[in-house]
Amino acid sequence: MQIKTLRRIDLPRYWFGATIIVLLMRPLGMPTGPALLLLVCLLPLFCPPIASSQDEVPASPLPVFEFHSGFWLNLHHTLYRQARLQRSANSPVANSAMSNLSPAELRAWSAATAFYSKTYADQDLTVSLGMILIKNQLGDFETCEDLAGVRKKSCDAGLPAKLTEILNTAAPVYRAHLWPEHDRANRRWIAAVAPLVRRNGVDLSHRLAEIYQTNWPKERIRVDVTSYASSTGAYTTLDPLRVTVSSTDARNQSAEALEVLFHEASHGIADSVQDAIFRECRQREKPIPRDLWHALLFYTTGEVIRPLSFNGSDTNGSSSGYVPYAVREGLYKRGWENYLRLLTQYWQPYLDGSVTFDDSIAHMVSSL
Ligand SMILES: [Zn+2]
Repeated sequence: MQIKTLRRIDLPRYWFGATIIVLLMRPLGMPTGPALLLLVCLLPLFCPPIASSQDEVPASPLPVFEFHSGFWLNLHHTLYRQARLQRSANSPVANSAMSNLSPAELRAWSAATAFYSKTYADQDLTVSLGMILIKNQLGDFETCEDLAGVRKKSCDAGLPAKLTEILNTAAPVYRAHLWPEHDRANRRWIAAVAPLVRRNGVDLSHRLAEIYQTNWPKERIRVDVTSYASSTGAYTTLDPLRVTVSSTDARNQSAEALEVLFHEASHGIADSVQDAIFRECRQREKPIPRDLWHALLFYTTGEVIRPLSFNGSDTNGSSSGYVPYAVREGLYKRGWENYLRLLTQYWQPYLDGSVTFDDSIAHMVSSL
């Protein structure tokens, strides 16, 4: 399977994190020269002047998702990851980008990883309420130069004092040694997935909302793109619905990135599935099957993505050869074999339009 490859782009680097408000590329098929004009803009104050002719029309915003490559959240996840690696290795973890720190930088970085090791390494990024609140707050303050409001009062993020101090102290080290590489990878990932979202995003969102018998969120879903995003490579938090995805995880690349995005977003719109499974189980006095709803989400996203063509020529492509995430990563072979059978036998007919949502779930539960 091929997707259109994008020319390598050296994206502008900023001192701090960036909200990528305006998308980066025009739809596929447009001339590539002006189409690659990057309009990566944060606060107007910090936008470098972009040379553009009067005929150039800025690309319209992407539908469905809004991508961010934010400095503070990337720093937070990097420290969290280093702390966890360090703990499992029981010694400092070698990182070539961090091998040439000055003594002062080394002290600051070591203090930060030690603090994360003690305070956060045991917490799960994806379920710990404290970690979720920190993540959201760091995302919201991504354009701030510091988190204590020293330079700008409105930049006081209200985080725990020690965390604020640690992040502010580690920030110059991260900025000098790792952030440029992480930010570049994030922006490259965004530039690669943006044309897929532009081409397929609206249709996919409508289709998934129809399947789950709900409405897709009116606002674009925030996606924080980070170098590291938990052991699963991507995760979603609710209220507000936000997706975090790793730009460097091998599972999230090329066309697969589109499936990962829509799988993650489905976490925010598929309550109907869990509710229906619970209801049917209660009626039949059966135990609630662990993770059947999650297997259903994987199956469904894979099936709606599978027919798309990723070579840019046709859209009807059973020949695209796309392999859904759950198949590719062997999820059905790790205890979900029975779920795959149920989904193929009873859920697929619903996706094909031959049975109702309720009947499909009822059949699955009665066959458990
Ligand atoms: Zn999931």
